[in-house]
Formats: sequence, C-alpha cells, structure tokens
Amino acid sequence: MYFPQQEYIDDSIDAHDPDLLRVHSIETLGTHDGPGIRMVIFVQGCQFRCLYCQNPDTLDIHGGTFIPIEELVEKALHQKSYFSKKGGVTVSGGEPLLQRDKLIPFFDRLHENGIHTCLDSNGRVLDSKTEQLLERTDLLLLDVKHINKEWHKKLTGLKNKTTLRVAEYRESTGKPMWLRYVLVPGWTDQEEYLHEWGQHFTSYKTIERVEIIPFHQLGKHKWEIMGLEYPLADTLPPTKEEIEKAASIFRQYFKSVKIK
Ligand code: SF4
Repeated sequence: MYFPQQEYIDDSIDAHDPDLLRVHSIETLGTHDGPGIRMVIFVQGCQFRCLYCQNPDTLDIHGGTFIPIEELVEKALHQKSYFSKKGGVTVSGGEPLLQRDKLIPFFDRLHENGIHTCLDSNGRVLDSKTEQLLERTDLLLLDVKHINKEWHKKLTGLKNKTTLRVAEYRESTGKPMWLRYVLVPGWTDQEEYLHEWGQHFTSYKTIERVEIIPFHQLGKHKWEIMGLEYPLADTLPPTKEEIEKAASIFRQYFKSVKIK
C-alpha cells in the first residue's frame, strides 16, 4: 500500500504557531535546487502521491520537526558568505505551498537580509496566500509532472489543473521560473505528450530554463524502510538516448533545456 492521501488538516498546537515551520530536513551548500550554492529546506507534508517519489518520508503532513522561523533565518545568515551573488535559500519538500502562510514572513526576513529566495513547488494550491508568497519568491521552480490530466492523476494521484494555473499566474506577474520535469520511462516519456508539454509553455516569457530530471532509484530504500509498496520498484532509469530524445523535443520549444 502507498502512503494514504491526506486532507491538509493539521490540528497540532504547533502547526498553528505562525513562527514554527514543519521541516523534514535541511541541506547546506546544495547545488541542485536553484542557482548557485543554496541552503535547501525540505518541508514536511505533501498531498501528491507521485509513483516515483524519492522522498516518501516527507509526505506525512503530521511528520517532521517544528523549527522556529528565526532559527532558519539565523542558519541562512551563517551560510550567507557561501551564497555569493547567485545563491540563497530554496524551500522544497514535500510541498511548501501547504505552509505558505508561514513562508511569507520567512521570505520577507530573508529579503531583509539580502538573501535570494527560491520555491520548489508542485503548484498544489493557488489562492491569495500563494500569490503573496510568489510575490516574495525570486525564482519559482515549478514541477509540471505531466501535461495530460489523466496521466498526471495516474502518476501523482491528483490532476494538473492547479499546477497549470500556478504557471499561468506566475507568467502574469512577469517574475522568473524554471520548469522541472521528471523523465520516467513508460510514464512521462510519451513523445506526443512531450510535444504537448512544450507547446503549452512555449509562448511563456518568464520561463528561463527547463530542467529534465532523469528518474533514478536512489530513494528506493526509503520505501522499503517505511514498509510501503513501491510501484516503480522495477522501473529502470531512462537511457542516455531516451534522455537526449526528450531534451531534443523540449529544445524545439525552449531556449534553455538542462539535464540534471
Ligand atoms: S510532489 Fe514531490 S514530495 Fe510530493 S509525492 Fe511528488 S515527488 Fe514526492
């Protein structure tokens, strides 16, 4: 059985404390999630159930540890000298938008201290709080996991409607974003849908880069430890040729396509 889908109802006392963020883990000197060297905060809780999730331990909205926002600001300040011009702080997950009201003041505090902010999101929620957070997000990393709503649902448990609306909203603000795409053989490598994905976004002016993330099995042991049935346990990573093929399709629609 996969980890059950959850309503976002977090009734613990600490969850109502605006100064505490529910965190899974923190990476220092990260180089994979946004530009330059970054402190990456993986927050706890996600409502997607991606078949390929490599961090199933971040899904439970009641898990993780509460960390005061000021403590996170302090940690970022300690690392600021490593960030140089391009780096900063990325909030990833799990799904950061589930704690968007707490991230608004956090990003404000980072900006007060001259620190660049990045949000790595699956675009689960769009409301005025999301808009306020995006206003404070220097760079949005938006995961658009499939362009077809039925395939998206099979792959993640939910449809892609809100994610696409978040992309549209970001475009309307004129602020930059990178789109991310996990390439999974048999699930996200269908040629017609790669074209459809490209066509959908090709006219967007705010997309600075598209990142292809080849599926891997580095998180497989986490599924085993958690006693979960891993649906893609036998799926192989895409070959070099398959990755190149997907990249060449995306390059027909975007100037900058990077393979992670
Ligand atoms: S959105 Fe990310 S954290 Fe959530 S299930 Fe998918 S891969 Fe895992």
